[in-house]
Amino acid sequence: MAKIVHVAAELSPIAKVGGLADVLTGLSRELARAGHEVEVMIPEYDCLDYEGIIALEKSAGFKITLVNPGGDWFQRGCFYGCVDDISRYLAFSRAAVELMVDPEIIHLHDWQAAVAAPLIRARFPDLRKSKIVFTIHNVEHQGSTSPDTLDAIEMEGKDFLTLDRMADNYDPGRINLMKGGIVYSDVVTTVSPRYAEEVMSPVGGRGLEETFRLHREKFRGVLNGIDTVYWDPAKDKLLPKKIKDPSKRKAHYRQEVRKQFGMAQEERPIVATVTRLVPQKGIDLIKHAIGHTVERGGQFILLGTSPIPEIQADFERLRDQNADNPHVHLELSHDEQLAHWIYAAADLFFVPSLFEPCGLTQLIAMRYGAVPVVRETGGLADTVVDIDYSGKELENCNGYTFRDPDLGGVESALDRALGCWQNEPDTWKKLVDNGLREDHSWSVPARHYEEVYGIGR
Ligand code: ADP
Repeated sequence: MAKIVHVAAELSPIAKVGGLADVLTGLSRELARAGHEVEVMIPEYDCLDYEGIIALEKSAGFKITLVNPGGDWFQRGCFYGCVDDISRYLAFSRAAVELMVDPEIIHLHDWQAAVAAPLIRARFPDLRKSKIVFTIHNVEHQGSTSPDTLDAIEMEGKDFLTLDRMADNYDPGRINLMKGGIVYSDVVTTVSPRYAEEVMSPVGGRGLEETFRLHREKFRGVLNGIDTVYWDPAKDKLLPKKIKDPSKRKAHYRQEVRKQFGMAQEERPIVATVTRLVPQKGIDLIKHAIGHTVERGGQFILLGTSPIPEIQADFERLRDQNADNPHVHLELSHDEQLAHWIYAAADLFFVPSLFEPCGLTQLIAMRYGAVPVVRETGGLADTVVDIDYSGKELENCNGYTFRDPDLGGVESALDRALGCWQNEPDTWKKLVDNGLREDHSWSVPARHYEEVYGIGR
């Protein structure tokens, strides 16, 4: 049994922006269940769901440490999005390292915690026995900053400003925090095997491809799981009516959601998307899919919100244009309960990401009886097997994929899926059942992380 400490910016459900939060809770819960002593360090945000903390600790079996580096770094009423985010998370990382007492494993997540790896090597000799693992959940955000910002955490930025250390590969006068995590950790992982390959290519690596290739010996992909206790359609706390039978449950929530959103109660397939509305997620492709789905006799529900004002405004316009459309509903907010209802109601679940490190929504969707229609990239490619083009038997297929992130790709995949729902109910049922049967719990990934940590049970 090992003592493991995670350092991250998010933890579900008390501090959640996206999938990172879900991973921290799901993995920590499973490691604790396996008997390890697990602690998760997150910033003491003023906007935390404080009431949820005790309940989470009790039910999940791991310790939560709220790190307060002093000052007003985390008194901003938000998680990210401040102009001084780099300084905020440098202060957080430093304070988190200072709180560590002899962990065997220090597991850092994304750029916000990455600097802890070089910091420990440079300044904390007592922690040098600990194994440092760094997991990259998204290579898009790397944390680029001027060398003197590191002064604030007593690191000599200029000592690290060489290309074999932390100098940004695109802009060598700047420090790249994520690169520091890669160079100074013992093991580096990312959240799916396909994404691990993609980031070694110029398009996927966002300037870090060379660094990944150089460190490939200690780099691997471990596919995320989902928290199957939280995401359990038969016992879901956020679904008011508990229905065991998947097809009866689907029928019930299709009706409920349509009622709630004022949509027509017609025998049409519901296509849904639940997502952050950022360029990575294929904004134009989502917009195109809405109109195309309706043209082909389906209904479309989008739950999403954007941190980018222009994108949010664009979708608000689209929502208003569709205000009287009985087959379209856009809900432009972050709403945990609605997300559960929509997974329960959806027939098809659409994820057209331009890149996707792992993606959790397609896994949740399958567990709730929806068939994923996804772009073949990253973790989406690792988890969705196309019924027509994978060359696999129906038994081993669970959805639809398309390769090119363009309108033609979207149309061909959606048409095939909608056509199957409309004309081949038996095949459709098979796809749904195959998805329902899959095990995407954390038990398998947690074992992989134990291997990465080099520990047993
Ligand atoms: P990412 O981490 O890039 O946001 P993932 O697919 O890994 O994407 O994880 C997304 C998580 O956030 C899922 O749990 C999904 O249900 C949730 N989510 C995304 N947008 C919303 C929203 N508007 N309301 C509620 N939950 C959301």
